[in-house]
Amino acid sequence: MGALEDTKFLMDKYNIHPNKNLGQNFLIDEGSLNKIAENVSKEDTVVEIGPGLGTLTSILLEKAKKVISIELDPKMCEILKDRFKLYNNFELLNEDVLKIDFKELVKKEERSNFKVVANLPYYITTSIITKLIEEGVSDITVLIQKEVADRICATPGEKEAGAITYFVNYYAEATIIGNVSKECFIPNPKVESAIVNIKLLDKKRVKVDNEEIFFKLIKENFTKRRKTILNSLSSTIEKEKLIQILKELNIPENVRGETLTLQDFANIVNQYNKLIN
Ligand code: SAM
Repeated sequence: MGALEDTKFLMDKYNIHPNKNLGQNFLIDEGSLNKIAENVSKEDTVVEIGPGLGTLTSILLEKAKKVISIELDPKMCEILKDRFKLYNNFELLNEDVLKIDFKELVKKEERSNFKVVANLPYYITTSIITKLIEEGVSDITVLIQKEVADRICATPGEKEAGAITYFVNYYAEATIIGNVSKECFIPNPKVESAIVNIKLLDKKRVKVDNEEIFFKLIKENFTKRRKTILNSLSSTIEKEKLIQILKELNIPENVRGETLTLQDFANIVNQYNKLIN
């Protein structure tokens, strides 16, 4: 059976009504499913977030050494246990992905062949991606909202960029590897989707002497988008110091923060760090 028939059959058999609050939109397009799993090979341990009825899981189980699937919905877990009971490379965690310690998981498995592959629940896309990067997952391929994919893959300083662009760009290289239309899901989501691959860099992209302030500044800057940097950054760095720093760096005070590059933010923080230490 194909993904569409499988999904309809399982929904019928187990009387499933997709739970909108859990972002349950099941992917039924074979081309997109194969694209998400494209880079998985027999040496890999794959962690899948939100397996749902197991459509992507079944492809991953054939391609990977081991699949660890994390699903919050106990009803889905019952179906998955039943569906994959004959696979000895399948492990299922009935947990909230945001409570999983990926650092521990990566440590337990072979780091260089550890991948996260998923059709994510869209209501927590950014939290999941932030967590995976912070906890050292070095290869992530996920299906997410197109709008978020565009933001993640934008270049800092571009119109599409947001705080998440700077965060991802600091640690990783992110690329859109495919687009997926609404019609490829049951039920159809409200938005278009895209598949993104995120690979951690060996070394962070710029040198930052105080990461706490660096991320605070970036966050602050994007919550006060339309303001000049002098106004948007002055609740983290006192105005007088900020004026001095911008002067030293030759950055005009009236420039809008969203046009600054990653290196600009790093320079501001490093200069500030020198002043306070
Ligand atoms: N992988 C399936 C597919 O491609 O058809 C389903 C993907 S669906 C977009 C997202 C899945 O994530 C759902 O099965 C949902 O129950 C699960 N989910 C939602 N929130 C979760 C959380 N906090 N932790 C783990 N799984 C979650």
